[in-house]
Amino acid sequence: MSQRTAIIVLGVALSVIILGRVSRAPAPTPAPVPEAAVTAPAVTRPPRHLGPLAATLNTPLLGTPAIDLNARLATRRRIEREGGRVYLDSMLATTDSVVIRWGGDHPPTLTVRFEPDSSRKGWQGALDDARTGMRSWADNPSGFAFRESKDSVVDVVVRWNTMLEEKSQLGLTVVTWNAAGIIESAIVTLGLFQNPDSIPAPPPVRRRVAAHEFGHVLGLPHSSRLDDLMHSSSPVLAPSRRDLATLQLLYAINPGPVRTP
Ligand SMILES: [Zn+2]
Repeated sequence: MSQRTAIIVLGVALSVIILGRVSRAPAPTPAPVPEAAVTAPAVTRPPRHLGPLAATLNTPLLGTPAIDLNARLATRRRIEREGGRVYLDSMLATTDSVVIRWGGDHPPTLTVRFEPDSSRKGWQGALDDARTGMRSWADNPSGFAFRESKDSVVDVVVRWNTMLEEKSQLGLTVVTWNAAGIIESAIVTLGLFQNPDSIPAPPPVRRRVAAHEFGHVLGLPHSSRLDDLMHSSSPVLAPSRRDLATLQLLYAINPGPVRTP
């Protein structure tokens, strides 16, 4: 296989510990999370790289053309200039210094296939909640739109599972990209239940988780601020100004490695 791929797993977890530490007032319409269902701290998973790409990324830059190095430095400087207005630096920490995003020649509409599973209790309502979460990214500054499709080949697949691997986790997005940092596909898995006692995830929580996961689909990493939708335990229901600014910057810079010596 000539094209090298890497996979990063980006999850969302609900954490009463983190929520309890924050002294600021909650967002206007935070979704209630039953405390009994919130038992574990936020989960940050390390990126899971397949061997070939990891080897490539760890190769010293010996022989890197000066023009390439200048481009990498320019990209890094552009990110640094934005300061706290954005959080793309967290992407570089999880991708081994690769800017990942959909390619510039990709149509601004991503096709999405929902795969509801009638064998799983509760998927019917969860489907509508997932659509609502997806629509929270409408009118984003990068012009990306989502279009539902039943085609076998789509950009994004959304599936459901009764529960995810981590007990407090309700969403998981696996993004695959090539050596040039271009995202090739995204698979979202949404959990229907919050814990082994089979407490269904409340609809507001499901919508919030879906909105968060679609942020990962667009390429966004995690934010460290709780008032951003892309915080791993965010209580907000829609992208913040900072989420949108980060998305805008992501599609204003070139994808690919930005590691410098
Ligand atoms: Zn996440």
